[in-house]
Amino acid sequence: MISRLKPNLSIREIISASCFWKKDSVELFEKNFAELMQAKYALAFPYGRTALVLGLEALGISKKEIICPAYTCVVVAHAIMTSDNMPVFVDSEFDSFNMDWHLVEAAINENTGAIIATSIFGYPVDLDAIKYIKKKYPHIKIIQDCAHSFSAEWGKEPVQNIGDFAIYGLNISKIMTSIFGGMVTTNDEELYKRLLEIRNKKLNRTLLKPIKRWLYLIMVFFAFNRTIYGLVNKCERLGILNKYVKYYDESKIDMPADYLKLLSSVEARVGIIQCKKYQKIIAHKKEIAGYYYQYLKQISEIILPKQNEGATYSHFVIQTSQAKEIIKYFLKHKIQLGSLIDYHIPSMKTYENARYLSNNLSEKWPDKVINLPIHSHVTLSDVQKIVSYLEAYYDKNI
Ligand SMILES: *Cc1c(COP(=O)(O)O)cnc(C)c1O
Repeated sequence: MISRLKPNLSIREIISASCFWKKDSVELFEKNFAELMQAKYALAFPYGRTALVLGLEALGISKKEIICPAYTCVVVAHAIMTSDNMPVFVDSEFDSFNMDWHLVEAAINENTGAIIATSIFGYPVDLDAIKYIKKKYPHIKIIQDCAHSFSAEWGKEPVQNIGDFAIYGLNISKIMTSIFGGMVTTNDEELYKRLLEIRNKKLNRTLLKPIKRWLYLIMVFFAFNRTIYGLVNKCERLGILNKYVKYYDESKIDMPADYLKLLSSVEARVGIIQCKKYQKIIAHKKEIAGYYYQYLKQISEIILPKQNEGATYSHFVIQTSQAKEIIKYFLKHKIQLGSLIDYHIPSMKTYENARYLSNNLSEKWPDKVINLPIHSHVTLSDVQKIVSYLEAYYDKNI
């Protein structure tokens, strides 16, 4: 079965994760990650969400409005609420999934604390727009949400270093992984020191976490095996794996129970190896995206995202009117497609009272988006197979 996602894990990660006696793995991971992202400092966290909550605290932002995309991962909104701030949602641009910067400017008022600039699906945010906002409103902080993009480039400039700090998510569905985990990078020494102090004060270690994470790694390593993934997928659909795969709860603002437990060294050792693989992972994603663009052009029922040289393609997202049916049709043919992001935060009950600047665009996407597999194990022949099933699907429908 072709899975919608699959972490790039080999026996190297398993062996390294198993070296329980090794010290300083977290510091080494931070050092390697900072180098990879061309930033001066990196600090590790248990989740990207935790990084955002504590990063806002380190900036001294509290009881403020935080401008963020309406079309992003809901955990971002939950983190903003947890930090004792309020999200203000902004719709996307017409020709990309990223936030519309005209609406961002319209959303700014005297209570705006920060803007979360998100490169959704790996499509780089508009750095020219950010620089314009920065100049006109110097007191507003810019936080780069690089959970999907890592080092996407706008022109030739990497997005993550334009702003006060950047956050990254490192769970197994992200571009690279440390099992779970999150990271902050920044070039601001003062901010780095404050954040380190806050982390030392608020986060603590638990004895069981390294063992739990190690077991989870072993489980994941086998679960994504191509022959047994069909069974895993069946269990997932039956809800048997909810404990392991359920990412958030739509109906309430909540954070994982262990969001204030330090990243374990088991996770850091996996992250260290993933840093070495990063360039290769991205190169492969770009290659597969290129094939999709090339072969999908001829299918008129599909809307492709605008092609962008600097994108890192955490997901390859197409839009069509029959998303749910297509996902079902593919499952019958042993190909799992994804449906991220299949919700719209301002339409959720939890956030219905939040301020939202709309273009009438992103509320339509939940029923339209499909993510095509673009992970490290996807081959050209997988792409051709996926494209031919799409063609067959539309032919049958005419
Ligand atoms: C994954 C993700 C995060 C952070 O996720 P964690 O699960 O908290 O590590 C933040 N923003 C976006 C857009 C994401 O997809």
